[in-house]
Amino acid sequence: MSRPELRAAVRNLPGYVPGRRSLSADVAALASNESHFDPLPSVRERILAGALRVHRYPDMAATALRERIAGHCGVAGPGGTDSGGADQVVVGPGSVGVLQQLLNAVIEPGDEVVHAWRSFEAYPILVAIAGGTSVPVPLTADEHHDLPAMLAAIGPATRVVLLCSPNNPTGVPLSHNELTGFLDAVPPHVLVILDEAYVEFVTGTDPVDGLAAYHRYPNLCVLRTFSKAYGLAGLRVGYAIAHPELAEGARRTALPFGVTALAQEAAIASLDAVDEIAQRVAAVVGERARLTAGLRASGWWVPDSAANFVWLRMDDENSRRTVESLAAADILVRAYPGDGVRITVADAIATDRVLAALPAPHTLPAPTAA
Ligand SMILES: *Cc1c(COP(=O)(O)O)cnc(C)c1O
Repeated sequence: MSRPELRAAVRNLPGYVPGRRSLSADVAALASNESHFDPLPSVRERILAGALRVHRYPDMAATALRERIAGHCGVAGPGGTDSGGADQVVVGPGSVGVLQQLLNAVIEPGDEVVHAWRSFEAYPILVAIAGGTSVPVPLTADEHHDLPAMLAAIGPATRVVLLCSPNNPTGVPLSHNELTGFLDAVPPHVLVILDEAYVEFVTGTDPVDGLAAYHRYPNLCVLRTFSKAYGLAGLRVGYAIAHPELAEGARRTALPFGVTALAQEAAIASLDAVDEIAQRVAAVVGERARLTAGLRASGWWVPDSAANFVWLRMDDENSRRTVESLAAADILVRAYPGDGVRITVADAIATDRVLAALPAPHTLPAPTAA
């Protein structure tokens, strides 16, 4: 009997595997890279006030938020004016939503999208939905993007390259020099999307300045989110800084009213509170150092993370064992079968609990390059 069929691309999609969730206060939820802080009082107030207006549609163009983001990112309007840079801002329901809008705006059937692997698991899914073909390029042994291999993977069908810095789930960032060297070599018709979901947590020498690069390279677009450092994962709002023509295309492919008024208000209130956000980020960065040092002291090889999580590469068997030992101590982390385990950094109590509960490595991963 005939019946409605799914598209082949959809039949073959892997299901998105969300991080394990728990609302219990005793459980350390370290599986999804969320902020462990409660919403800021000033942000909460705006959300509560907005709750009284949910019978209304939001501003579909999100004009106030886009103008605020343009100011925050130093994106000038026509003629270098401060107002009007909003034409280079795209917002969406999370930066995953914005990425989908971007891909849907540029991908023709069969176009290739080059990205590192392992990287953010939404990439191959969104590429397939857009009708494109993922070209995953393995990370180097020390968990970096293999930029020479990614360049070599660019062919006649390549339409987009996705860079994730710091990379989820390994935490390893690109340097600015690496980024610009890569952009110098990429053909100008290939769109490069730099996913900076964790940019606020970046420390170290020669950090990527995605916005400076954006001003220099007409084929670069920068993706950011309010979900991680800003702590608004549950409200779904992210943005791209994109050159006007692409930005307009990505606004056209948006789901109408995809960013709620609550999300728009909360994002603006968060940008009003950047100093408080920076304090929270500094606390996480401090715990990241402590967790990394503690793990190394007990024998783990841990790449330097520039994000709010750390990465332990290990085989399937060890990752199962690790997740089980942590779960027995009410700690939820994220396993990537065959690759390793990612642990979100939270407060000092969470760090201590992880260090106390994590078994010593049975098989140390042996990086072959440094
Ligand atoms: C968390 C994350 C995002 C975005 O999440 P949203 O909640 O959709 O904004 C994007 N990219 C990477 C690499 C992430 O880890």
